[in-house]
This record gives sequence, structure tokens and C-alpha cells, in this order.
Amino acid sequence: MKFIHRVLKTVAVASLALLSLAQSHAATAVATHGALSVKGNQIIGADGKPASLAGPSLFWSNSGWEGNEGRYYNADVVSYVQKNWNASVIRAAIGVDKRGGYQAEPEVNFARLERVVDAAIAEGMYVIVDFHAHDAHQYPEVAIEFFEKVARKYGKYPNVIYEIYNEPLNTVDWSKQIKPYAEKVIAKIRAIDPDNLIIVGTQTWSQDVDKAAANPLKNVRNVAYTLHFYAGTHKQALRDKAQIALDKGLALMVTEWGAVNANGDGGLDKAETALWLEFMHKYNLTHCQWALSDKKEGASQLKNGTAPDGKWTDANLTDAGLYEKNIVLHWDKVKYTGADTKR
Ligand code: MG
Repeated sequence: MKFIHRVLKTVAVASLALLSLAQSHAATAVATHGALSVKGNQIIGADGKPASLAGPSLFWSNSGWEGNEGRYYNADVVSYVQKNWNASVIRAAIGVDKRGGYQAEPEVNFARLERVVDAAIAEGMYVIVDFHAHDAHQYPEVAIEFFEKVARKYGKYPNVIYEIYNEPLNTVDWSKQIKPYAEKVIAKIRAIDPDNLIIVGTQTWSQDVDKAAANPLKNVRNVAYTLHFYAGTHKQALRDKAQIALDKGLALMVTEWGAVNANGDGGLDKAETALWLEFMHKYNLTHCQWALSDKKEGASQLKNGTAPDGKWTDANLTDAGLYEKNIVLHWDKVKYTGADTKR
């Protein structure tokens, strides 16, 4: 009997040691889900199960904007959101046409993107490469040159997600302008990278997913559509549009949202955000919050003047930052309901 006890004790100790080892080396998001793909209205991992990712979006990468100058586009920041928020995704919002953007300063902006993508790969995170423009259909050749470069360098990594048109304006027609643009850009990406996810923006600052659902892209693989919301402005009427799109079989990704108003400012609408979180959980939607920035406005997650070293505590976070950190931190574990309004 003594011998059996000793064996059992040894087994128990060994099991505990293995358990703690597993906990200290929790699988990364990319190790867990692998290459993402679209199946029906779901984005699934290599295991065939829905993959619902969460993490922040960086602010516009443009030089000289609000003092940011893309300074948060670095490995320390990416590592911080992985380790402290358990973020499974981060979005790089590469400004294009405005002052200090990719068109004016291609090398500088592309280097910012590379720093974030390289860091995301090192951390086992997904990274959304966002062509952050409102009128990209007017210069598809710039988007094609940009995404060909991204696909050549990073198309072999399952981490990378292409977002080819951030927010087309309300006056940019889905069928006449956005869809033809998407067809051109997707074809060029697919000539280099046959499989990584491509996310397509929709009319009216990526709200009219119902228009895309009425006339979706044909003969494309692993393509999903962008839905953006700001809870202070966008409520049930926008969820109804999303529902129409999902019911018609479109896969959606919320590559940008805020708990504030659509202008990026104002207070946190936690009650409406709780409804959105419940909706996103129900359909396994991936989401990124706008924005990991210290600009003086309600949506910013960092207090003004926060150094870009990623050595941050909760004292560096704004109300929005702390609220959204907790949403990301618990995204895999908690089913959000209206009861979460106090977060
Ligand atoms: Mg690939």
C-alpha cells in the first residue's frame, strides 16, 4: 500500500508540475487557431472552430498627427497588449492619402507597419494590415502596390489579415465603386497569397454591410466584410443591418469600434456597448477597438503624453482604455450581457 501511495503522490506532483508548465506557456492565438478561413458566415481556425479575436487598433500611422507620428508602432507596444490585455489581434491603421501618410512618405509608413507585423508574428498574434483611407477606390494602383508588397513579405504567415479599404464614405457606391475596387485588389493579392483572410470595407464608413450582402463578391476565397460601430451613435438599426448580412451568409469582422460617439469623442456608452458585445459574442465576431492612442479624445485608450515604451500600468490608461482592456482580457472566457455595463 505504501508503494502505491508513493506512486500516486509522484503522479500527482508530476501532473501539477505539467499543469503549471502549461499555464506559464499558454498557447498563443496563432498557435491555437492557425490559418484562418471563411466558412459560411463564420471565420474559422484550422481546427474548423470559429475564431473570435479581440484587441486594439492603433491610431492613424501618419507622421506629425496629434504628436503620435506612428510612435506607438513598435514591438514594445505589441508585446504590452499581448501580455497585459491577452490581445489576440492588433490592427495597424496605415494612413494613406492624408498629410504624412503612405503616399507622401511610403518608406516611413511601411517601416511602421513592418515593426508591428514583425512583433505580432513574434508574439503569436494576428495582425490586421489596414489601408486606412476613405476614398481608396480613386487610387487602386496605390493599394495594389502596397498590398503586393505586404503579400510578398508576409503572405506566408497565418498571422496576417488584409483590410483593403477602411471606411468608404456614404457617397461611395458599393456596387459601382467599392466592389470593382475590391475585385482588382483581391485579384492582385491572390496572385501572390492564395489564402490569407481579406476584409473588404463597406459603404457609409463600413456600415452598409446589407448592401454588400445584396451584391456580394463572387468567386473569391476567404473574404469577409467590414462592420464598424461607435456605440454612442450606432445602435439596434446597425445591428439589424449586420443581421441581414449574416443571414445572407456574409462573414463579418468588426475591425474598428468604439464605446464613444462616431466622431471618436464623448463619454462611454456602456449600456449600448454591452448589447454590441453580446451581438459579437453570438456570431463569434472578431473586433478591434479604436484606438491605442494618446490623442485628447474620448476614444483614446492612453492618457495624453504616455511614452511609447509599453511599460504601462492601468494608471496610463484612460477610462476607455481600462474598460476596453477588461473586455479584451476576458473575451475568451466571458459571455457578455447587459450585466456588464459596470465594467
Ligand atoms: Mg498565405
